[in-house]
Amino acid sequence: MNGATTSGELRAHNRVRLLRAVHDCGATRTRSQLTRDLRLARGTASVLVAGLAEDALLHEEPAPEHGRGRPTQVPGPHPYGPVALAVDVREDAWELAECELGGRITVLEVRPHDGTPEGVLHPLGEALAAHRERLGNRFIGAGVALAGPVRHGGLVDIAHLGWNAVDVPALLAAGARREGAAGAPGEPSGAEVDDVPRGGEAGAGRGASGMPGMPVVGNDTAFAALAEARRGRLRDVRVGLHLHVDFDLGGVLVVDGRPVAGAGGAGAEFGHMTLTGSERLCACGALGCWGADVGANALLRHAGLAHGGGRGREEAEHVLATDAAAVEETARTLGRGIASLVNAHDPEVVTLSGHGPELYERAGAALLEACEPYLMAIRRERPPRIEASALGWRGALLGAMESVFDAFLTVEGLEMWRENHPDQARDTPERQSVTHSTPGGGRPS
Ligand SMILES: [Zn+2]
Repeated sequence: MNGATTSGELRAHNRVRLLRAVHDCGATRTRSQLTRDLRLARGTASVLVAGLAEDALLHEEPAPEHGRGRPTQVPGPHPYGPVALAVDVREDAWELAECELGGRITVLEVRPHDGTPEGVLHPLGEALAAHRERLGNRFIGAGVALAGPVRHGGLVDIAHLGWNAVDVPALLAAGARREGAAGAPGEPSGAEVDDVPRGGEAGAGRGASGMPGMPVVGNDTAFAALAEARRGRLRDVRVGLHLHVDFDLGGVLVVDGRPVAGAGGAGAEFGHMTLTGSERLCACGALGCWGADVGANALLRHAGLAHGGGRGREEAEHVLATDAAAVEETARTLGRGIASLVNAHDPEVVTLSGHGPELYERAGAALLEACEPYLMAIRRERPPRIEASALGWRGALLGAMESVFDAFLTVEGLEMWRENHPDQARDTPERQSVTHSTPGGGRPS
């Protein structure tokens, strides 16, 4: 079954299973529910929970309400437990958050940027280093979502920002070196530090704490799709299609809960297919890309406004809210492209994030009308559902967080945590000092 043969291995395996279950359910299930879900003996579950609490990996709170009988406990994040940093880098701003076991996120910073690789990644590297320093041995890794194809763990191309094979880990590390060892978040001291993780393959580096220090760099659409598969409308879906609409369109196939990444990691690029008969030259260098006609840039172009270069988000939102003709045209282009992808992949459901849900809400009829004639007859009988993301604009950020926890919630990850917490033998919730906000799927500010 799992390859665990000794009792120690079995226990290590069950620790991972229990933490994974707590994380995936959003720390909402009671200990007895989890015990049943995982088919554990009650005594085994008690021992596991106690051990995980000692290691500062889990903390139990009484369930908010329970029926008669024994009060029940809900395992959730420990006040000194693991924290991942997650970043969503959009074409005009980045958003940095911290996330704990269970997926609760707290947005730490939102910063506009100038769109240049150094202008984006040096201050971000600085901020990541400062927050990593602040978190100390609670830090388990960082995930960074970017609005372009990501090759080989960190080479990023964002065509309309002029990024060409930008080495994201290297530029983040250069920014981190500007952050002094004692610098507080947002207060660069200019001092050099020597133990900053270097760029390279994702997950290869180790930070000063011994925990993974190299950020996991990924495509925003692929991360949004991963989050949708874990916590949204693609949960328990075998084959789904996720489309993320921002300045342009990204799309990826999700099979058994995993976005199909491609051989070099840059697979999430359905936006760069010629699906709608366009002859427009796309910034990526190809002719007629579907994604160039869906998104903020296309809305701005329809409305006769300046577009491109990752600028004009507010104007595009105004067009989306007020210009019915532009919205309908964009929705039609979206629908027509969806038909081709449905013909090819036969997904159960097509999910939309970013501006996608609003396009669908404002012009869903036009979208479906444009989709249908391009569907094969056998697809028309039972077309897939088209649904708005359950995660709003937070998908990419949540997916970046999931990629960190995926590496952490392993036997090796938990063992490394233990090595970094040699004196951890307490469960002290009263010392919790951080107040968390729980932002939902709000728009980027
Ligand atoms: Zn293209």
